[in-house]
Amino acid sequence: MSTEQIVEIINILKKFYPDAKCSLNFTTPFELLIAVMLSAQCTDERVNKTTPALFAKYNKPEDFINLDISIIESIIHPCGFYKNKAKNIKNMSIILHEKYNGIVPRTMEELVTLPGIGRKSANVVMLDAFNSPQGIAVDTHAKRISNRLGLSNNSDPLKIEQDLINLIPSEYFKDINHLFVWHGRNTCKAHTQNCSICPIKNFCKYFKTTIVGH
Ligand code: SF4
Repeated sequence: MSTEQIVEIINILKKFYPDAKCSLNFTTPFELLIAVMLSAQCTDERVNKTTPALFAKYNKPEDFINLDISIIESIIHPCGFYKNKAKNIKNMSIILHEKYNGIVPRTMEELVTLPGIGRKSANVVMLDAFNSPQGIAVDTHAKRISNRLGLSNNSDPLKIEQDLINLIPSEYFKDINHLFVWHGRNTCKAHTQNCSICPIKNFCKYFKTTIVGH
């Protein structure tokens, strides 16, 4: 696919999903860091139901460093993998406190060194907390849509991101991050892709080979 075509796809999706934005609730970069961490293997909806109780009492690294880990576990329990996530929240808070003065760092290189934060999460924080997208967060939606559209044949998220970065001009990183998620949730779903109403079907490899081809 050419860069012109992917730009056209982005512009079509922007019109189709004019409200596409981050769906995790947060008020500070630290809150987003925690919300993104909790969203691993969990829906954003469930994270948004869980974080108000957490952030009402604890929303700064300093709040967590001496907090009994069982308190964190009991609050974030609904998000799954709560033992590991609680441990990461506490360790991340200690590092932010000791190394960064309690302030979330503003570079991908630093973010990915924090416990529980991989490249996908760091991409979300750079985009939605700092309005400085550095790449493309390849979650389950971005992966599926990239493969179906024919933007990448890879299955490894890091390789998919590199394929996308090579194809998509950086000024569109912000749009595509949110549009992939909204398209994946609303139309190009994992098991029930609604190709008949999809506004970008004419660009889609899956549609041309699997739907039209039959
Ligand atoms: S045509 Fe179907 S498979 Fe292709 S992007 Fe649209 S919904 Fe997904």
